[in-house]
Amino acid sequence: MADVARARTAEIIAVGSELLTPFRLDTNSLFLTGRLNDLGIDVRRKTVVGDDPQDLGGALTGSLERADVVILTGGLGPTADDVTRETVASVLARPMHEDAAVLEAIRARFERRGAAMPAINRRQALVPEGARVLPNPNGTAPGLTLELDDHVIALLPGPPRELQPMFDAHVLPLLATRWPGRRLHRRVLKVTGRSESQVEEIAHPIYSRLSTPEVTITTSILASPGQIELQLAASGRQPAAIDAALDAGVEELAAALAPAVFSTDGRALEVVVCDLLRARRWKIAAAESCTGGLLLGRLTDVPGSSALVLGGVVAYDNQLKIDALGVPAEVLAAHGAVSAEVARAMAEGARRRFGADVAVAITGIAGPSGGTEAKPVGTVALALDGPEPVARVVWFPGDRAMVRALSVAAGLELVRRAASRLPA
Ligand code: ATP
Ligand code: MG
Repeated sequence: MADVARARTAEIIAVGSELLTPFRLDTNSLFLTGRLNDLGIDVRRKTVVGDDPQDLGGALTGSLERADVVILTGGLGPTADDVTRETVASVLARPMHEDAAVLEAIRARFERRGAAMPAINRRQALVPEGARVLPNPNGTAPGLTLELDDHVIALLPGPPRELQPMFDAHVLPLLATRWPGRRLHRRVLKVTGRSESQVEEIAHPIYSRLSTPEVTITTSILASPGQIELQLAASGRQPAAIDAALDAGVEELAAALAPAVFSTDGRALEVVVCDLLRARRWKIAAAESCTGGLLLGRLTDVPGSSALVLGGVVAYDNQLKIDALGVPAEVLAAHGAVSAEVARAMAEGARRRFGADVAVAITGIAGPSGGTEAKPVGTVALALDGPEPVARVVWFPGDRAMVRALSVAAGLELVRRAASRLPA
């Protein structure tokens, strides 16, 4: 008898010769992996193959030997290089029939646009025996599913805007009914101002304590400039026990990593900052040099930020720091543009001139040129003016883009700490 509690496995095959060029990336599998994981299905392998029946046939045969679910994307179009439908039928040794309803739907779609259906589109109405046709309201290529004794196979169109709604409407319910009960539960802790290795050093000893006899928790760490994500996941058939174990894990990790944890509910740093500003009824302004407005860009990405963000200046040039922000010329001359003193004066100027409750300033050397021995590339001065002013000089590693991204994260973090009364 099949083990009903066993975790099911999936493989994804992305079909399309363009996906083997430097110009197109397979992103469908990212979407599909997320959805499959949510269903408690492990994605074990992803394959990208060109529009070649032999390569595709080989990939499909291998996937069917290993996985319960095989999802193929792309290659359902009408042209001769679209070979997915034919190849699947041939690997499964199933004849294909023209489906009158599918043919009619394709014809009607062309008619609505005032065109006759080109003869080549007739191929898209071919359906392998036993397959179910998935309507495609967003394109001509219908999808297909095949339920075999021990496999589910889905063929989905390549364009993401066609594939995603089709998966959610038809494939997701099919998989959820076939293997009910197992779901993946996830939690994420987001941390800023710490390196991946610093986070790992604190978190690693805790990982082994997180799993309970009933619930196995897996952890992964995901680093991007200015942010580390700790992901906890567990799947199984006892949702209450899983949630309890995950919540306990989040609590323990958050306590160990405090105060660098800025969210445990999925919110991004800029969203957390906006929520804190709203709670405090603070209006914010910014004075940015090396980040060129990126900090205000992230804050204004957040819907509703217009009630919280007054605005600011990008003061790249020293004269503009003097004219627009009132930075004293003597301070600039004495300490240089990248200094705690100038950052402080920029933040004070922005707060005063724009009538903000809190202002943040960033001035630094993003590189690749402009560094000196005393102030190498990556030297960044950050300041916050508000109830408790802060100004400091830090050094960030990496190239220009990285230094700018780290500076923005550090600037947002200064605001978060000030607004939540944490030590800067
Ligand atoms: P159509 O009828 O639109 O041709 P199709 O199923 O034949 O559907 P493809 O021709 O393989 O789809 O791909 C169409 C477009 O969809 C590609 O040019 C590409 O932009 C996008 N696409 C295909 N596969 C992927 C993928 N794996 N990830 C992201 N985009 C994809
Ligand atoms: Mg195509």
